[in-house]
Amino acid sequence: MRYASLASGSKGNCHAFSQGPGTLLVDAGISLKQIRLRLSEVGWDPEQVRGVAITHEHSDHIAALPVLVRNTDWDILATPETFARIQAIQGIEIPRSRWIPLRAGEAASWNGLTVLPFTTPHDAADSVAYRIEAGGACAAVVTDLGHPTALVEDHCRGLDLLVLEANHDVQMLREGGYPAVLKARILSRVGHLSNEAMAGLLGRVLSSRLRTVVLAHLSEQNNDPELARFTAGGILEGTGTALHVASQASPLLVADPGH
Ligand SMILES: [Zn+2]
Ligand SMILES: [Zn+2]
Repeated sequence: MRYASLASGSKGNCHAFSQGPGTLLVDAGISLKQIRLRLSEVGWDPEQVRGVAITHEHSDHIAALPVLVRNTDWDILATPETFARIQAIQGIEIPRSRWIPLRAGEAASWNGLTVLPFTTPHDAADSVAYRIEAGGACAAVVTDLGHPTALVEDHCRGLDLLVLEANHDVQMLREGGYPAVLKARILSRVGHLSNEAMAGLLGRVLSSRLRTVVLAHLSEQNNDPELARFTAGGILEGTGTALHVASQASPLLVADPGH
């Protein structure tokens, strides 16, 4: 299994997994043009994309959906609640034939990948993160969560690759220029994961199997990639686990997340 972050942050999110000929995206929060461009940049054939699994209906995760529905034949993997919200928000009707219904807590087989959505505490209709397995490797994309629940923690164990939210530094957010309402939303139990909370979770799920950690969904205003990296680095020190920080502007390829 190969993994690439195509974009990550509050302006748009898109992750890609491939195993054999089929590529699965997780979220489509950047334009279809950018998705194709960035796949090419990491050396993947955009024509191999077969589907996109949606975590939740916030625009930084679904912005490309209307164009994508019109211009591709990709499957849309989503829970019923999220599928309904996407259509309501974007004002589109997605043909039922394009939809692969998912349910949080139930694994689905899709094009050689096992896709397991699990519930995350976030202010959306039916927010999920994904655990994805193929060819003996196991990865998870865990972003957009206000706090690490026991359920989330359980799903972060036994992974080869963990893509984990490091949204903000609490002090930078508190002292920064965001409106009070927005600060309160981000800091709430259904908002976003801070560097501190990320480090706590990472420390609890560390294992010798975990070969790669990718920090994701960093706020450009309320975080600093070096600070997030330093915070996670303290936890990973001496483990041999590789650490990357996904960026909004450019793609990142992890060729071999594990066996
Ligand atoms: Zn988001
Ligand atoms: Zn969100």
